[in-house]
Amino acid sequence: MKVVHSTTGLEKDSGGALVPTMGALHKGHEALIHRAKQLQGPLIVSIFVNPTQFGAGDDWQRYPRTLDADLATAESAGADIVFAPDAEAMYPPDAEIPVPTLPAVATAPRLEDAHRPEHFSGVCQVVARLFDLVRPSSAVFGEKDYQQLLVVTEMVRAEGDRWPGLQIVAHPTVREEDGLAMSSRNAYLPPESRKQAVGLCRALESARRAAANGTEPVTIERDLNRDLRAHGLDVDYAAVRDARTLLPPTGTQPTRALVAARVSGVRLIDNMGV
Ligand code: AMP
Repeated sequence: MKVVHSTTGLEKDSGGALVPTMGALHKGHEALIHRAKQLQGPLIVSIFVNPTQFGAGDDWQRYPRTLDADLATAESAGADIVFAPDAEAMYPPDAEIPVPTLPAVATAPRLEDAHRPEHFSGVCQVVARLFDLVRPSSAVFGEKDYQQLLVVTEMVRAEGDRWPGLQIVAHPTVREEDGLAMSSRNAYLPPESRKQAVGLCRALESARRAAANGTEPVTIERDLNRDLRAHGLDVDYAAVRDARTLLPPTGTQPTRALVAARVSGVRLIDNMGV
């Protein structure tokens, strides 16, 4: 496996499969890497804790950085190249990096966009920069960050010829045995908060059951909020939305329940099709 820290080490037109990450790799990331292994070309895992997608009060400084362990994980999962640039390589002060226009799904839903106002412009900036540098033929993203997956998919569609033929591949959320969605941020959870954190997926599972029984989205949303609070979670949002636009459901399209909540100062997100 090749490890590349500067942009000059990447061949143009790699045509491979890219898995963008911020490191602190866990089984969720590994599943994405295994999925990418089935796709065409060399498998590139990028590791970059992108400062531009963190807000002023966010955890950029204390975000876990575990490069040596990540390299071992990426290699055993089948990566051919790990691209782990520093901030200078990603954002050279003298380079013109075209930042894409944000798609509607990055600003209209009032979900992550409302609670982390700078987040998706930072995500689009770093993902566009990675696509420009790596020129992948496909890139794998997790449903764990569902709004992000839609934002990237729409950005690629809107940018048209900038990355010809680039395919965005979605991978389902990988969970711990008790259902908690795997996340690098779970490492911050104090042991006494672990049970509360499981409340996110428990509330989503109830929402899924209610939807299967024909319960109306407004009622499901109300119960989602109630269930999250009953687990002692401090709710940022709990919503049932059109699964493609993330706007209020229209009644005919598939829907998705999405939640964000804090426990012991750790912000967790999760979602499920309902
Ligand atoms: P991150 O390192 O948190 O920026 O995540 C990198 C990629 O891994 C993103 O596409 C995430 O959606 C995906 N990811 C993170 N956690 C999970 C998970 N538990 N299951 C599936 N994909 C995940």
